[in-house]
Amino acid sequence: MSILELTHFIDNHWIPSVSEERFAVIDPSTEEVIAWAARGDAQDVERAVQSARRAFPVWRDTKPRERSALLYALGQSIRKQADDFARWEAIDSGKPLARARREILSTARYLEFYAGAADKFYGDTIPLGPDYVDFTLREPLGVTAHIVPWNFPLNMIGRSVAPALAMGNTAVVKPAEQTPITALKLAELMLELGFPPGVYNVVTGYGEEAGAPLSRHPGVDGITFTGSVEVGRLIMRAAAEHIRPVVLELGGKSPIIVFDDADPDHAAAETVKAIYSNTGQVCSAGSRLLVQEGIKEAVLEALVERSRQVRVGPALEDPDIGPLVSDEQYQRVQGYVEIGKQEGARLLLGGQRPAERERGFFFSPTILDDVHPQMRIAQEEIFGPVLAVITFRTEEEALEIANGVQYGLVAGVMTNDIGRALRMARGLQAGQVFINEYFAGGEETPFGGYKQSGFGREKGWEALYNYTQVKNVAIRIR
Ligand code: ADP
Repeated sequence: MSILELTHFIDNHWIPSVSEERFAVIDPSTEEVIAWAARGDAQDVERAVQSARRAFPVWRDTKPRERSALLYALGQSIRKQADDFARWEAIDSGKPLARARREILSTARYLEFYAGAADKFYGDTIPLGPDYVDFTLREPLGVTAHIVPWNFPLNMIGRSVAPALAMGNTAVVKPAEQTPITALKLAELMLELGFPPGVYNVVTGYGEEAGAPLSRHPGVDGITFTGSVEVGRLIMRAAAEHIRPVVLELGGKSPIIVFDDADPDHAAAETVKAIYSNTGQVCSAGSRLLVQEGIKEAVLEALVERSRQVRVGPALEDPDIGPLVSDEQYQRVQGYVEIGKQEGARLLLGGQRPAERERGFFFSPTILDDVHPQMRIAQEEIFGPVLAVITFRTEEEALEIANGVQYGLVAGVMTNDIGRALRMARGLQAGQVFINEYFAGGEETPFGGYKQSGFGREKGWEALYNYTQVKNVAIRIR
């Protein structure tokens, strides 16, 4: 396959960096260079923000039903080209093909969902008595910046850019340096469909060089960031400079809590999905298995058996799980397994690269048992296929352990006792609670964190509030 040449996409044009610098993009399954991308910096960000600013009044004043039609058409185009998109995503990120395809279709779904919202996000009329008429207008923010991570490259663009554009904002996207391809493939489709220049702009490059100037830019009216807590903090500081709103979706250390009345095999199957999906590189991964004493043996037996069957391989061979995204990520995951062992956890399975894989950043499904809730492997986000198993006795103890971390993104509960399920749902500090099916929900359901997992909600109707501001109009009528 020939190596791709990628440029920025600004004002509906393909343009290289002002500096003419580029960087290499690697396929994590083969460690080979698959693309050269423009290495953006503050100068390119400046151009992109100017382009989005010029486009804003045009797009804001485009009839909502016309914005809707364009966004819907974009969703349809993605569906038609889902196989191509899936292939790009697979070689760029290491995702298995089938998984990549599901994420691409989900991106189409975001576009369709928010296309439907463009002409339906109503304001209110507020009763002030006979002397006034009062109503609210929901107005777009202006230019929104979207700083995107590598674990769901196109899907997260769909998740935040679709509601932003639906509400009349224009966007500047900074994809992760590991995975810039599909953000630009999306631009190709938008160009074909006739989106006005400057509505969607992409600046590729590294976080500090391109992401940081974007987050600091006074011409940006709102920032959506998904990524690490450390960078989230930097983004929030940068946004504070100009008093700009931010949506932060940061890390997680989410529990999957199995009570002894649950079916052990179902619990094991859900845990396999919770921790190994996308090779564990999911902010909402279920990375702590909290299992009640009486059912532990049965769950672990089924879990180890199922984990052994997980096929690890190159993305294009469509295994169950692909490689980690980069060598850096591989070293980090390996490092955490060593930390866990030193802390006294017992390695039940995996813990290293599968023997048959010489190249690529592959890591075996890994289970650490006898984990204490205060160990680092039970507190810190690993972002790999590494599960920490913690035993508990009572419901109160389960809740205390589940909530005893700095994060609060999601939580899974496996029980057949409805009262217990609902008590847990109330008590858990998490933005989403899954009862009896991990990752239950979809594009329609609000998603986001408690505590250091961030704030603001993405997905569903809730996300529209991030991309609008309310203006109240009070009119004296006599
Ligand atoms: P991860 O640790 O998962 O790679 P990061 O938080 O480092 O996540 O990266 C998520 C996104 O944030 C990427 O697009 C990255 O380039 C960008 N980024 C990293 N550092 C900064 C920064 N200082 N300012 C703005 N964006 C950044």
